[in-house]
Amino acid sequence: MLPGGQSGHAYEVRFKVAYPTSELTRQGSSNTSDISMAGDADSVYPDWDISSIGLDRDVAGASKNGSAAFEQVPIPEAMVYPNFEQFPDAKQLDRIKQAYRESFELARSAYHSLDGTTAYDRYLGGTDSRFNLYVFLGMFESQVSNPNQLFKKMVIWYGAPPDAQDDCKGRPWMLGYLLQKPDFPDEYVHLIVCTRTMQLPLISEMSCDHLSDHIDKSFETIAATLLHEYVHWSALMKRALETKNPPQRKIHDFEAPPGSDPENGYGAYNAMRIKEKHDPTDNADNYAWFALEAFWTRKCVPKEPWGPPRKGEPSCDIEGKEDLAEDCHAG
Ligand SMILES: [Zn+2]
Repeated sequence: MLPGGQSGHAYEVRFKVAYPTSELTRQGSSNTSDISMAGDADSVYPDWDISSIGLDRDVAGASKNGSAAFEQVPIPEAMVYPNFEQFPDAKQLDRIKQAYRESFELARSAYHSLDGTTAYDRYLGGTDSRFNLYVFLGMFESQVSNPNQLFKKMVIWYGAPPDAQDDCKGRPWMLGYLLQKPDFPDEYVHLIVCTRTMQLPLISEMSCDHLSDHIDKSFETIAATLLHEYVHWSALMKRALETKNPPQRKIHDFEAPPGSDPENGYGAYNAMRIKEKHDPTDNADNYAWFALEAFWTRKCVPKEPWGPPRKGEPSCDIEGKEDLAEDCHAG
């Protein structure tokens, strides 16, 4: 429960924020040969195709691909970048760009862990495997094989855009949220990261040694906030959403009345409970926590699977910020 008795589900308010099309389209469209980093004409990256990153698996989801060693799936260097706005200094800008690259490494680990893994069973197992495959495949196709290069239509902001409602303000537990026009086409989005997200570590700042023996806040990283928000991006999830009959409009965050178990879909424990009791494919954090656990499992090769997340343990507690008792939410 949030202070003031609010339910605090930020995605409800984001649809009330209207953006002029000119604001959202200023990055323009691009052709497939233009793979320079948005906003940085000097950064040109080599070509990158889908076969080079190990995504040439059976898209029906029938093949089990647990064989690729972690070292064979490095962070890609050639990618389409969004624009980044309002990051206060070069260090924070470097960190969010690194987190952006790492978000695809999370997604790739998830992609390779879709069948028969502890992580998949914990958050998504037994649900629509084709839908889940397309959730992660959509992230890569937007980078690699889709000529619309969707991520060029995203702007990642540190804090709210000047003319938008600030959902971070007064909500120290907020990790971030997505601003999306309510009407189709909805390719253009603003992804807002709150201060709390930037207090989390990058994967590159973490090590296997500091991970707990069970799933908890020690697994959390900036890139997971980004991945959570990608899941809400209907244009990016188009292929997954279209597999539903009738097609699903978007992937939401789970909500339930106060006193329910769980009350919301945020954090590893709640995600696990939603998989047990509800539809985990309509809760963004189920994908984020599946990707986190899949990534760390592949990277750290634990002798035993990580223990399950524990009730009452925050999934996003910041070191030295014990006053922030609320667990983190991502709109
Ligand atoms: Zn969300």
